[in-house]
Amino acid sequence: MPATPPLPPAQDPAVADRLAELRGPVPPRHHDARTIAALTANPGCARRAVLDAAGVDKRALAERIGFGPRFGQSPFAISRGNAFEKLVKADGGTTLLHLLRNQLGLDLPIGDQDADAADLDSQWLDLGTGEREERYRRTRDLVAAAARDQGDGPVLADHPLLKLEVGGRVAYVEPDLVAFRASSTSAPTTPWQWYLAEIKSFAMIDGRADPVKVAEAATQAAVYVLAFQALLADLGLPAELAATEVVLVCPKDFSNTPTAALVDVRRQLAAVRRQLDRLPRIGTLLDGLDAGLTFDLAKDEDGEPVRGAAELGKAVAAIEARYAPECVSRCDMAFYCRDEARATCSTDLLGRSVRDALGGVGTMRDVLALAGGEGRGGDEAFDDDPDLAEAARLLSMARRARREALAQAAAVVEAELRSREVAA
Ligand code: SF4
Repeated sequence: MPATPPLPPAQDPAVADRLAELRGPVPPRHHDARTIAALTANPGCARRAVLDAAGVDKRALAERIGFGPRFGQSPFAISRGNAFEKLVKADGGTTLLHLLRNQLGLDLPIGDQDADAADLDSQWLDLGTGEREERYRRTRDLVAAAARDQGDGPVLADHPLLKLEVGGRVAYVEPDLVAFRASSTSAPTTPWQWYLAEIKSFAMIDGRADPVKVAEAATQAAVYVLAFQALLADLGLPAELAATEVVLVCPKDFSNTPTAALVDVRRQLAAVRRQLDRLPRIGTLLDGLDAGLTFDLAKDEDGEPVRGAAELGKAVAAIEARYAPECVSRCDMAFYCRDEARATCSTDLLGRSVRDALGGVGTMRDVLALAGGEGRGGDEAFDDDPDLAEAARLLSMARRARREALAQAAAVVEAELRSREVAA
């Protein structure tokens, strides 16, 4: 009899139970495109992978162990973002349809741009209410119906819900909008595609926005496109039906008037796909953890935390991290992990490119020792480890080059001072 294939981790009750145990009796925090984009920026970090898969509130955990994050969107920025999104959608899609058609040149299968409100009403569907699984099912049904008949259903769907497998677990992600059945008028032979739209509150001035913010938005949008492609695959439809250009809607110049641009996210899409593939399977990570480990942030009836900060700190330290300086702007645990890296003089503090160039040398003490050959007896001590021998050779060379450069600079300064003395 053939062996029963193992369940995917997303459906494995043992994995789900273990994750619930790690989180404790508090509601889980769910992944969103922002956290997935940040996760893929550091796919080698087991600590973040486990905390996110378990739905642990990392910000609350970091605060509890004394390393609360000092970044995050300000309440002002959040309410400004919400207000702008509300404004863009306030007229039941008229503004959006105008932007898609007149500004971006997308060909939408509805009447003329002055179609009456009743016409537009039928082109707008709100998928933002109900349980997540139900919302996903309604999104799926809508895409399936539109694939069967181009003329079926609305053109704009608000808050569709998509699914994406992250480290072997299912995460739900929610783009702001899907524009269905649009095609580009600049490429009339292109078949109809589905376009995803993101509404952001940062300004587009003279048609250009802050490149850092656009890059962040593009990576998040790539997560949505990937999830939409997964939905198409689930329906047996080709991935090409999801446009790899996304619609970015922002305030124009210094006003609140919406404007839009198409952003090509093919590069980000490839990067997110590659990084998600590299994410360690959560089941494997859980196998390596001690039984009884928990990040339980629950409080008792007096409002006191059930677990002490020391116990929680010990639990965090038990999972390996992969700190990088970029963590400071991307992960709520950053100040804890940075402190930990400092305490061990880890080469992680130097950034990924330097760390990788050091070929796996873990601490700065070792780097200095290798550079000087101190306490190791010289390069020959690494005969059994060619990587370390090579690192020692390169570091010694770098150290010699630095000494020579400093000596030369000192000689030039001295010569200059002497010549000034003579001239005086
Ligand atoms: S801050 Fe810590 S937990 Fe978060 S990604 Fe960086 S190393 Fe991992």
